[in-house]
Amino acid sequence: MKQSCEIAIVGSGFAGSLLARVVAVLGYDVVLLERGAHPRFAIGESSTPLANLSLERIGTRYGLKDCYDLAAHGRWVRNHPDIQRGLKRGFTYYRHHAGQPFSDRGLDSERLLVAASPDDAISDSHWVRSDVDHHFVRAAITAGVDYRDRTEITGAEFGSDGVSLVGRRAGEDFNLGANFLIDASGPGGFLARQLSIPSGLDKTYTRSALVYSHFAGVRLMNDLVPGMPQGPYPDDWAAVHHIIDEGWMYSLRFDNGVTSAGFLLTPRGLASFSSRTEDPAALWREILTRYPTIESAFGDATPLMPIAFHPLIQHRLTRAAGERWAMMPHAYAFVDPLFSTGIAWGLRAVERLALMFESAADAARLPDRRDLERYETALTAEADQIDLVVAGAYEAMAHFDLFTSQAMLYFAAVSFAEASQRLSPDAGVAWKGFLGVGDRVLGPLPRESLNILRGITKSEGATGSDADRRGFSDWMRSAIDSRNVAGLADPARRNLYPVDFDALLERHQLLGMTRDELLAGLPAMRGMAPPPAFSNRPSRMRLGLAAEADKAKLYSGEPDNYS
Ligand SMILES: Cc1cc2nc3c(=O)[nH]c(=O)nc-3n(C[C@H](O)[C@H](O)[C@H](O)COP(=O)(O)OP(=O)(O)OC[C@H]3O[C@@H](n4cnc5c(N)ncnc54)[C@H](O)[C@@H]3O)c2cc1C
Repeated sequence: MKQSCEIAIVGSGFAGSLLARVVAVLGYDVVLLERGAHPRFAIGESSTPLANLSLERIGTRYGLKDCYDLAAHGRWVRNHPDIQRGLKRGFTYYRHHAGQPFSDRGLDSERLLVAASPDDAISDSHWVRSDVDHHFVRAAITAGVDYRDRTEITGAEFGSDGVSLVGRRAGEDFNLGANFLIDASGPGGFLARQLSIPSGLDKTYTRSALVYSHFAGVRLMNDLVPGMPQGPYPDDWAAVHHIIDEGWMYSLRFDNGVTSAGFLLTPRGLASFSSRTEDPAALWREILTRYPTIESAFGDATPLMPIAFHPLIQHRLTRAAGERWAMMPHAYAFVDPLFSTGIAWGLRAVERLALMFESAADAARLPDRRDLERYETALTAEADQIDLVVAGAYEAMAHFDLFTSQAMLYFAAVSFAEASQRLSPDAGVAWKGFLGVGDRVLGPLPRESLNILRGITKSEGATGSDADRRGFSDWMRSAIDSRNVAGLADPARRNLYPVDFDALLERHQLLGMTRDELLAGLPAMRGMAPPPAFSNRPSRMRLGLAAEADKAKLYSGEPDNYS
């Protein structure tokens, strides 16, 4: 085992592994340290268009064809059928009421569908994290990363010339010196402990508990509630959200028939159940019993690992970077799975750190102080922004009309960012604020929205009057108007939003483009831009297919990324 390297990365989720590989491709000497071993179960599975754009940019810039392939469901299935995933055409929401089956009231159903892609071929995917993370680790090794699993790091000491790590692997103590340390340990909180970084959770709003597993035999909503008016895609091939009085449930179906599902419960919601949280399976059953349609979907499903419970899934630190160190977003902060921000945010950080090392590669070989401050400032503002958007959505769950309006804030921010990035790609895009941060219009909206919602709900789940709800929806429509390139918040749509290129064309000026310029860019929006020429890129990559994983062990014990 070598005793020194330029960059040490702690944690080999996709973020740590992919960053390790990119900096290795850039010529850095990298050690990637993991306390567990791949393949391993992990949660955090549903990707989004912004995540895929990051993945495409990383693939194109650093010559990593597999990243480009994994950024669209069609290319993924064609080129990496061995890596499991699920088709995700959009975001599906249903509002359920205790003791009542979900009611199909035609176009007046409490149902919202927002397409994220125009067809299956270029759609997003749910990542089977055991496969995807394993793939990225193997690719990192192939790129020259020194990967050490089953490693316990017991100390990290920072000095003027680097960081010194001590730990244990295979029964032996080791020392490793590094010039720079990246914490990609997720909620493992490696560096927070080593540097005694205080928590910043008290300044955040969102609070939720989690009860979850992977399941076989989950029934489809389209089968359980037949005859719902046709949406822009089949309801179940999406990130499905079931909103309930006590919080919400995610249900992500993989192409192999397995479904990842979990309930996020507010503190008040959790307290309304009598099951003891030491018995998550009983809590799961009690929730199902309260909601007949969800029970029909999950009642006969088989959990593939014991149903697990976490009393509080949020974490937040007061620092994200410093001299000779930086954290990946999931090590720094996590809010909630609502709106699937985690993968996109993590990949954006991979881009940012990679660019920092890229520009330092010929000289200092370390990111400079200014870059690290910029990185920390970005993560801080973005963590706040995600928290505000999600906290607003939890308030809005009081009434489906409020929720659909609040959701428009998220969809306006991401569709505007997606269109801008696809139509005017440039390297600086990685530093653009996530979820409207830094945007003069979108930046302040989440806080304003949360305040208005709290006025309506009294922070106690009040549903407000018809006029309150109409007022909020009118406010939201006009607040997002100058960023609304996707035809959102349109009552004529009756909550069923396809990808609407006509709306995009009509609103070309919002993107600073003429109609003709936008027309010329449409192939990029439709995923019809010519693929990059990977063979010409300088890359140390020699990718092989992942070895057949030992699937049985995936479902034994706690997920490595959430304990
Ligand atoms: C319930 C839930 C649902 C989610 N759903 C979504 C979703 O649908 N879409 C989305 O985009 N995001 C989602 N997320 C967020 C997503 O999980 C994270 O963004 C993502 O996992 C971050 O990946 P990562 O590689 O940074 O870290 P992780 O996946 O957390 O990986 C961290 C790695 O570090 C290792 N490690 C930890 N401590 C140490 C240590 N001391 N030494 C060495 N190694 C260590 C772990 O074993 C693990 O391999 C969800 C999160 C939760 C909690």
